[in-house]
Amino acid sequence: MGHVDHGKTSILDYIRETNVVAGESGGITQRIGAYQVDYKDNKITFLDTPGHEAFTSMRARGAKSTDIVILVVAADDSVMPQTIEAINHAKAAEVPVIVAINKVDKPEADIEKVKRELSEKDILVEDWGGKIQSINTSAKTGEGIEGLMEAILLESEVLDLKANTEILSKGIVIDSRLDKGLGPIATVLVKKGTLKIGIPFICNNFPGKVRAIMNERNDRIQSAEPSDAVQVLGFDQVPQSGDIFAEVENESDLKKIANERQRIKREIEFSTVKKNTLDSISAQIKEGDVNNLNIIIKADSDGSIEALGESLEKIKHDEVGVDIVHKGVGNVTESDVLLGEASNAVILAFNVQTPSNTRLQADQSNVEIRSYNIIYQAVEDLKLAVEGLLKPDLVEEIVGEAIVKETFKIPKIGFIAGSQVESGTITRDSLIRLVREEEEIIKDGKIISLKRFKDDVSTVETGLECGIAIEGIKKYLPGDKIIAYKINEIKRKLS
Ligand code: GDP
Repeated sequence: MGHVDHGKTSILDYIRETNVVAGESGGITQRIGAYQVDYKDNKITFLDTPGHEAFTSMRARGAKSTDIVILVVAADDSVMPQTIEAINHAKAAEVPVIVAINKVDKPEADIEKVKRELSEKDILVEDWGGKIQSINTSAKTGEGIEGLMEAILLESEVLDLKANTEILSKGIVIDSRLDKGLGPIATVLVKKGTLKIGIPFICNNFPGKVRAIMNERNDRIQSAEPSDAVQVLGFDQVPQSGDIFAEVENESDLKKIANERQRIKREIEFSTVKKNTLDSISAQIKEGDVNNLNIIIKADSDGSIEALGESLEKIKHDEVGVDIVHKGVGNVTESDVLLGEASNAVILAFNVQTPSNTRLQADQSNVEIRSYNIIYQAVEDLKLAVEGLLKPDLVEEIVGEAIVKETFKIPKIGFIAGSQVESGTITRDSLIRLVREEEEIIKDGKIISLKRFKDDVSTVETGLECGIAIEGIKKYLPGDKIIAYKINEIKRKLS
């Protein structure tokens, strides 16, 4: 774990001596990666948690699912927000930390400064009198990487990490996605037991049966043991990251257990939905006229959903909020459209398809589906949409001024101000303000008649004389000023 750009991926790459596949959209790592290496007859699994700020909950989960956290801090930088967050997650999960002070090859590297800053966050490394191992590394030259591996072995010996492979297997879903050909796939980090093809399991309260197991290179394998992170096929539905995968002894019990769990889950959801609605109603009452942009997120993986969700939640304003009414992995379905219609929500499709029948249904029910494959673009677009919901600022612009010279009466219309335009133009559709001796008489009045001589005209330019009649005004005096203005709507931006 560590702040973005401090070198997590590079260290991992160096360790694996391979390259991470390029082509991440928007520069954001979209998948949690898990890689296993063999080191001195030990298998070590690394879980890469993104350092980008959008991934708080992934880091929290990363800390929870591991035995050891390696905190990467660049020696040419400081202890940064995501470093602190990683420290907090590791503490909360009560997982021991090993510090890798990286980029020590750089001339500007200042190892002592990093150690001092870490001590300020209660991370006391060994040569600062603490118990935490700290290794100086360079992913560029390879310096210290061996030492880091040794530190991991040492730590795990102290922790005496053991797992039973003979019991019912249990694991945690660290990523999931919907594959066009294969259906739901989840990366499962096995915590105990042996995950085998054919075993029945429950995950996210849905029954399943392991159909295939694949390693990180997509090779099909027969089984997986504790600390293996493997891709598993055989889910009924796409599970969510953080879901517990649990083998069930008897396949015949599967349905019963799943049904019971789903019933409980529905009850919980039902009660929270009610509560949320009440909450939002009371908030609306409090805030007056609240506009909300309701969003349904459909995406290719849990990672994308989280990245999007967390970025969207940042789009906030006193008057306008973004509400994610539903999120899920997979293509946009007709039930998403139904929900969109019911909740007046826009559907955001990230890296997923909308089948033509669903699109047709969406068109008919006026539900907008917006497709993206770059997170940044989706966030920018929604920001603009939210800005659209902000009531515009109204700014007055004066377009012309006339001075009244005399008054006269015309049958049917009434009194007319014989005036001369002194600046700008007076137009028939201008808003009008009448000022007498510096005192405003009428504002937002409308012109009911604008004439040059006997003819109705639409504009009168500077210097010309004209006859103006203003709605609601019966009397004009010489010297009165007639100010024509318009109201400009200025789009407001989220700060
Ligand atoms: P991550 O966001 O923490 O995964 O960081 P990356 O591994 O993507 O590294 C960010 C940048 O720092 C890349 O340009 C790397 O080439 C560079 N980098 C990483 N480790 C080192 C190092 O030890 N020395 C030097 N000089 N550059 C490094």
